[in-house]
Amino acid sequence: MLNVDIETCIGCKICERVCPFAAIIVEPETKKAKVLEGCTLCGACVGACPVNALSIERKAVSEEEIALYKNVFIWGEWEKKEEKKVIKNVALELLGKGRELAEKLGESLAVVLLGNDVGHLVPELFHHGADKVYLCEHELLENYSTDGYTNVIASVIASEKPSIVLYGATPNGRDLAPRIAGRLALGLTADCTGLDINESRQLVQTRPAFGGNIMASILSPYTRPQMSSVRPNVFPKPEADVSKTGVTEEVEVTLKPVSIRTKIIEEIVSHEEGINIEEAKILVSAGRGVGSKDNLQYIEELAEAVNGTISGSRPLVDLGWLPHLQQVGQSGKTVAPTLYMALGISGAVQHLVGMTSSDTIVAINKDKEAPIFEVADFGIVGDIFEIIPEFVKIIKEERAKKTN
Ligand SMILES: Cc1cc2nc3c(=O)[nH]c(=O)nc-3n(C[C@H](O)[C@H](O)[C@H](O)COP(=O)(O)OP(=O)(O)OC[C@H]3O[C@@H](n4cnc5c(N)ncnc54)[C@H](O)[C@@H]3O)c2cc1C
Ligand code: SF4
Ligand code: SF4
Repeated sequence: MLNVDIETCIGCKICERVCPFAAIIVEPETKKAKVLEGCTLCGACVGACPVNALSIERKAVSEEEIALYKNVFIWGEWEKKEEKKVIKNVALELLGKGRELAEKLGESLAVVLLGNDVGHLVPELFHHGADKVYLCEHELLENYSTDGYTNVIASVIASEKPSIVLYGATPNGRDLAPRIAGRLALGLTADCTGLDINESRQLVQTRPAFGGNIMASILSPYTRPQMSSVRPNVFPKPEADVSKTGVTEEVEVTLKPVSIRTKIIEEIVSHEEGINIEEAKILVSAGRGVGSKDNLQYIEELAEAVNGTISGSRPLVDLGWLPHLQQVGQSGKTVAPTLYMALGISGAVQHLVGMTSSDTIVAINKDKEAPIFEVADFGIVGDIFEIIPEFVKIIKEERAKKTN
């Protein structure tokens, strides 16, 4: 329940203005806040109160209450690409996994889509597996804001009671999901690498723990919904079925400017060409086996020959040989190219969690016991400085034959 500390309340009415459900008023006689019946415990007023006079008291959810929470929800994150709004790949990837979870539970799969003028994105969500889309449109949702998006999603969760909510672990997802978890006093497992349903119908959230040395299976038995974030490229994107449709529910959004404490002054798009390793189709990845920064020229030659993008393991970033944007692994990026070439990379678990979704993995390492060979489709035991020049020579010869 929402508690008002009457002694502390100064009657400023901010809670009244930010409440999306008109569920709190400041009584004219007492000049103190009073909570009304329609309160959904969304928490918007709690963060807005300037004197911390509001608090939400929650008890662990009983088994009967847990049974009331149903259906799998995904945050339908979109981005602007060349001025067009497009659904982010990670949201589509989550639809694939969400479908699997919903089927195991015998429940339905829904997307919460926020924005301004984003209705045209709905069919794509149906084509990728959503049964229902909660369309939350408002001019104040044109750009992502922590306050605006948290208020709306927390309200949808409070009224619809999903059993699971999944977010992409993107920069905005990493901001939003913990905020909602804090607001609704829920658990959140970040950067999951596996999601499943156990025999008790609970969400089993797997992620590396203790520096990646163990894989932990995490449950949220006492709160609902169960919430997880997943990095891009961890799960495969489902094939689109353009014949599939679903139900769109338009959600009335009652945001007010005062509810959003941040303003976008200017948007600066970064254009760092050639280093978007998350979307690269071919990655030529270097490990500490390259020996020196100068030796990266071997990797560059191979990358050029196969039209690939360069990435690397963490030691190369720590040594300043590659920028962090090009690091693959637990503390770098998760990648899923069609071809991943691991050159002088041992295959530590913290590296593997970032690249095992690749379609084909080719590893070159002079140590035949290197763990990278356990995940490689093609392994070559040998010295990269002997093999790469041979490789490049053969590719160039084959290309020349084709053009002649
Ligand atoms: C919390 C935490 C987070 C981490 N996050 C990441 C992460 O995001 N990404 C990441 O990569 N690591 C990460 N690490 C580090 C990780 O544990 C490993 O230390 C790292 O991945 C090792 O990188 P490497 O394989 O390039 O180097 P090494 O383990 O030193 O392996 C070098 C390999 O090169 C081979 N080699 C040497 N010379 C040649 C040659 N001439 N030809 C062929 N092969 C050769 C060797 O046989 C060896 O197998 C993290 C660690 C921790 C604790
Ligand atoms: S925002 Fe806080 S101080 Fe202001 S009226 Fe509401 S409860 Fe009272
Ligand atoms: S918790 Fe949410 S619904 Fe309840 S009074 Fe505060 S803002 Fe309104």
